[in-house]
Amino acid sequence: MRAKKSLLLLLALLCALAMIAGSWLAGSWRARAELQQQGLRQLQLMAPDLQSLLQKYETLPFVLGFQPDLIEALARPSDRAAITRLNSTLQTIQQQAKVGAIYVMDRDGLTLGASNWDQPLGFVGKNFSYRPYFDAALHGRAGRFYGIGTSTSEAGYFIAQPVYRNGSAGGPVTGVVVVKISLAEFERTWSSSDDAIVLADRSGVIFLSNRPGWIYRSLGPLDADTERQLAHTQQYMGQRITPLSGQPDLYATQPVGQLGWQLMLFPRQTRVLRAGLQWASAATLLLACVALSGWAVHQRRRRLEERSASRAALQQAAAELDDKIVERTRQLRTTNQHLENKYAKLQETEHLLRSTQNELVQAGKLAMLGQMATGITHELNQPLAAIRAFADNARIFLERGQGEQVAGNLGHISEASARMGAIIGQLKGFARKDETMAAVDLAASVRASAFLLESEFRRHDVRLEIDAADGLKVTGDSVRIEQVLINLLRNALDAVESGERREVAIRLARDGDHALVGISDSGAGIPEQVAAHLFEPFFTTKPSGKGLGLGLAISSSIVQAMNGQLTAHNQAGGGARFELRLPLQQGA
Ligand code: ADP
Repeated sequence: MRAKKSLLLLLALLCALAMIAGSWLAGSWRARAELQQQGLRQLQLMAPDLQSLLQKYETLPFVLGFQPDLIEALARPSDRAAITRLNSTLQTIQQQAKVGAIYVMDRDGLTLGASNWDQPLGFVGKNFSYRPYFDAALHGRAGRFYGIGTSTSEAGYFIAQPVYRNGSAGGPVTGVVVVKISLAEFERTWSSSDDAIVLADRSGVIFLSNRPGWIYRSLGPLDADTERQLAHTQQYMGQRITPLSGQPDLYATQPVGQLGWQLMLFPRQTRVLRAGLQWASAATLLLACVALSGWAVHQRRRRLEERSASRAALQQAAAELDDKIVERTRQLRTTNQHLENKYAKLQETEHLLRSTQNELVQAGKLAMLGQMATGITHELNQPLAAIRAFADNARIFLERGQGEQVAGNLGHISEASARMGAIIGQLKGFARKDETMAAVDLAASVRASAFLLESEFRRHDVRLEIDAADGLKVTGDSVRIEQVLINLLRNALDAVESGERREVAIRLARDGDHALVGISDSGAGIPEQVAAHLFEPFFTTKPSGKGLGLGLAISSSIVQAMNGQLTAHNQAGGGARFELRLPLQQGA
């Protein structure tokens, strides 16, 4: 695609170059044609001038042939007076006619008289028989010739006519009269021209030109014949004629005169060059315009294409976005559905957990009841036995009529039954399943818990120290709180049971806006590996039948439910210490 594009570009460039070159050529060609036409017109104006200049004197030698002085001088060449007359006549006529020179030769070519007889380079006494015009005139024809004068070295046009003996044509020829016309004046008119103007002879030798360097050069190489003839006639006085090199091929030419001359004009090449340049620049400009507008159109089309492409891309992106949104919505809906399902399951599980927890709490309570059963039985047995003993004694006292003693025994019985009632009352509340939230007096709870375990402590000979500050109230369920306290006291009892020192202390105090119940014992403390699992359900170090491992787990969850905290640590002086922190009721 890229290669194709650059190939096209190269082709376009080549085309443009070809067009520019073509314009150059066309411009040059047109300019050449125009220049040639112009040159021709110019030559057509110039040629008649030259023609008339040449023709003006055409008849002069002919007329001179009838001049008596000429005829006479030729008839008597040794007559000095006749020669003198001839010379003066020729000089007068030359001055009148304004020609270069007029002279008369005898049949041998010897000049008898000349208009320039009195000048140092005068022709008199010179022989010009080698000149072709002499030969022609001698044979009765008009002789015409252009050449450089052998004595004066001045170029000129020679016209010769025969002179007849009696001045009548057809008679014997006694001599030749020649008029030499200078073309220098004519040549001078060319000097103002920019273009090269030349006059060349039949053989192509330039003998007149406004380019001095071109004179006596030939337009083409000369053949041997011509060279020989030139040498013989001394036409150009032995000048070496060399071909002109590098002359322009653009010229106009016009034949002139009777000697096969060519009047030529070589227009200045720079004009052709300038025209070519103008045409080429016009073409370049035009091409540049075309290229520029083409480029603009191309740019515009590209911009439109880009715009439509970006619009399409935008539309596609929008469509993709829509698809994505739809897909995402679908995914979200599914996820939501999953979540809802999970939530429902979670709720179910939570429900299950709650009921399980309740059951566990209940189970814990029952377990504790089981553990306390021995103590309680013992506790109830004692007053029961006492009641029976008091009742038996009272009957004896009644039989004996000792009414006072009977009343005393009845009082004891009443006391003992009241104590039993108190114990049972505690147990009844403890075993209750439902939960009631109310203000709980912690000191009362501490005392009630201690009371339930009193006999146990006593049986194991463990000293229980109770120190409960009054008036600390928390919101909760008294039974649950007591369940926790009993559990902690029981654990403490278990911990000291087999030790040397058997001491357990329960202390209730205020700690900021919390109530703090501390239960410390003189046991072995909590081993490190146990501490990590202390509050885990079913974790126990006690033999089976004695511990379920539920006590601390349940207690902890009860305390947490009341926004409290249950912690345990070993004391510096030995033994474990459990701390129960519960938020105090506001205003308490
Ligand atoms: P259980 O009493 O049925 O074993 P708990 O949850 O009440 O269950 O107690 C868990 C464990 O914590 C006990 O088995 C015991 O190892 C340890 N523990 C509890 N209280 C104390 C304490 N006062 N001193 C030393 N260890 C204790």
